[in-house]
Amino acid sequence: MNKKYRKVIIAGNWKMNMLPSQVRPFLDELRAGIPAATHGCSVVLCVPATHLAALSREKSRRIAMGAQNISHFDKGAHTGEISADMIADLGARYCIVGHSERRADNGDTDEIVNAKLRILLEKGITPILCVGESLEQRDRDLTIEFISYQVKAALYGLTPDQVKKVVIAYEPIWAIGTGRTATDEQAQEVCFAIRELLRREYGALISRKVCILYGGSMNAKNCAGLLAQPDIDGGLIGGASLKPADFAVIVREGSRE
Ligand code: PEP
Repeated sequence: MNKKYRKVIIAGNWKMNMLPSQVRPFLDELRAGIPAATHGCSVVLCVPATHLAALSREKSRRIAMGAQNISHFDKGAHTGEISADMIADLGARYCIVGHSERRADNGDTDEIVNAKLRILLEKGITPILCVGESLEQRDRDLTIEFISYQVKAALYGLTPDQVKKVVIAYEPIWAIGTGRTATDEQAQEVCFAIRELLRREYGALISRKVCILYGGSMNAKNCAGLLAQPDIDGGLIGGASLKPADFAVIVREGSRE
């Protein structure tokens, strides 16, 4: 799994699932199933904001804490919002931005996604930027065009040094939570196109450094083929990250030397 220039990231996205009281038993089971040394593979759990305190109390060396969203405002009169400073104070090191569910359910536009990316980078939290096409766009052969547009809009105005710190997750909308995974070749084709775009816009050095993940019904059975692709540096995993035994299989695959 050694990608030479990049670390591997296996990130779970719990979405709106589990309870804070379930964090500890989950971690106990996960820890028992993953190697003591994960060989350049970072394991991340992106949990609901209400679960961050429970996860931070666990102080796991092997499992980094991630959030699923922050406000695009810095602070102040924004009732119900959670700021980047707040999740950082609890120890979050990663945060998902631009997930298709937030774009659809909460109206996160490209401008909002860009604003959130900037705030996270300023606070030293690694953004996991999600991009992905709909089935209609894929059927109309618009995948690469649309993904390029989404990546450019999200990264707009960032310096190359900031871009280097962004993790990009390619998540075809038609594969999220559907049990329908992109084939290894389909996933690799888009991740390669993202890396090519980064090379054109920011140069070879930056493009080689950016971690690009695949997400969309990745599970214990299909992870090996996806993770073996040269431009796929890990996974963003929804459903399978709720089952410690399955998530552990994916972590083990990502940790293979
Ligand atoms: C996700 O929510 O980011 C995701 C990829 O979900 P699933 O693995 O359930 O398709």
